[in-house]
Amino acid sequence: MTQEHVIFWFRRDLRLTDNAGLHAALTSGYPVMALFIFDAEILSKLEDKDDRRVDFIFQALQRLNRQLERYGSRLIIRHGKPSEVMQEITGLVPVRSVYANRDYEPYARRRDAEVEQLLGSRGIDFRTFKDQVVFEPGEIVKNDGMPYTVYTPYSKRWKEMLGMQPPRSYPSEHEQRYASGLSLHSVSALEEIGFQPSGLVFPAPLVSTGIIRRYHETRDFPAMEGTTRLSVHLRFGTVSIRELVRMARIENDTWLGELIWREFFMTILYFFPHVTERSFKPAYDAICWRNNEDEFTRWCRGTTGYPIVDAGMRELLATGHMHNRIRMVVASFLTKHLLIDWRWGESWFARHLLDFDLAANNGNWQWAAGCGCDAAPYFRIFNPYEQTKKFDSRLEYIGKWVPEFQQSGYPAPLVEHSTARLRALDAYKQGLATT
Ligand SMILES: Cc1cc2nc3c(=O)[nH]c(=O)nc-3n(C[C@H](O)[C@H](O)[C@H](O)COP(=O)(O)OP(=O)(O)OC[C@H]3O[C@@H](n4cnc5c(N)ncnc54)[C@H](O)[C@@H]3O)c2cc1C
Repeated sequence: MTQEHVIFWFRRDLRLTDNAGLHAALTSGYPVMALFIFDAEILSKLEDKDDRRVDFIFQALQRLNRQLERYGSRLIIRHGKPSEVMQEITGLVPVRSVYANRDYEPYARRRDAEVEQLLGSRGIDFRTFKDQVVFEPGEIVKNDGMPYTVYTPYSKRWKEMLGMQPPRSYPSEHEQRYASGLSLHSVSALEEIGFQPSGLVFPAPLVSTGIIRRYHETRDFPAMEGTTRLSVHLRFGTVSIRELVRMARIENDTWLGELIWREFFMTILYFFPHVTERSFKPAYDAICWRNNEDEFTRWCRGTTGYPIVDAGMRELLATGHMHNRIRMVVASFLTKHLLIDWRWGESWFARHLLDFDLAANNGNWQWAAGCGCDAAPYFRIFNPYEQTKKFDSRLEYIGKWVPEFQQSGYPAPLVEHSTARLRALDAYKQGLATT
């Protein structure tokens, strides 16, 4: 009889090192077939054929494939509906079990339930593992068993639990039981799945201890290299969260706090999935947004006449990244100064951010709009000029992205700050009064 295999299905965990599910597959006693599926349903919703995220994934897969070739194996890359791909592959190769790391987003959970059912009907187990987070939704709960909806007590409990259960490593890099001689088709170019290279090169992650050590002093200044730029690697699992948490515990508690925000918002999305459509706090759904489309276009393109806002929006379009301080400024500007529905901004970010993550993006947009679980109070309206003075006083960041900001061709401000502030306060007050 032909040798039985197990499949390790890569998703948001594109690395061979310290990978919980992969380690379990490699120690199962069966040769491991490494598989990645470009999910046709996700790809069909992407508007840009040169989407940077698809290219980021493709480059990470090529790195994985080169590593697997050193072990005499290869990565099988497929395109399609995951349950159909599984059905096809398990019809071609005898498969004992499929291993994967858990994904907590609503769509991923539905997809995995479908795959599990399909595999189950063929007598194949689907085994999933915790890898993407240190604590899964449901592990950090209040004394009454309910999920936290406020960050500070959540993070306190998270740290207590970390002290009790420090994350272990999964030395998947030391196990090499990969399948050889696989003759299955594998996607070999982006064009095969209807996309094009972005023209960018995405190297493997570089974790800088120096940046982490000084993080609490440098994190708010967008012209500095003061944050780690690891978000995209955390998004696609090209770095291990356990490795980062171990480092954060030693080096910098402020930075550890950021990694906890990531898990906090994942927990919120898991237990309160209505946040993808509506405000966490229902009263805020009564706000009457102005939703002026021309103003939205000017915000998107970086021509609002507010240099710090325009710099951020142009950085996003040019690089797929935006500094966190500036994300807060542009989100506050859109929702408060322009009174445009936070969901419009959320979807613009979802389209363009390289590190786009449903939970973090939604949680932070709702935070900025004041309607989220542990949000900034609605009357806290960032003054873009004050933010510039505090965080870009030498105008280096602005000068880089909006070099013409002091010239006559640069547009006048779309709205005057104090008028916009009063208008926002009024709209929020009226909206909240109706409920
Ligand atoms: C309106 C808005 C939208 C955002 N959308 C996203 C998004 O789609 N994806 C995303 O990963 N982050 C998002 N963030 C959070 C934050 O801006 C980015 O994580 C950060 O800028 C990434 O840069 P870095 O890797 O250098 O982070 P660092 O400052 O070095 O932080 C380390 C890691 O902690 C996590 N983190 C940091 N801040 C936050 C936060 N506020 N919420 C959740 N996790 C955090 C990220 O994984 C980050 O890589 C958003 C923030 C705002 C205000």
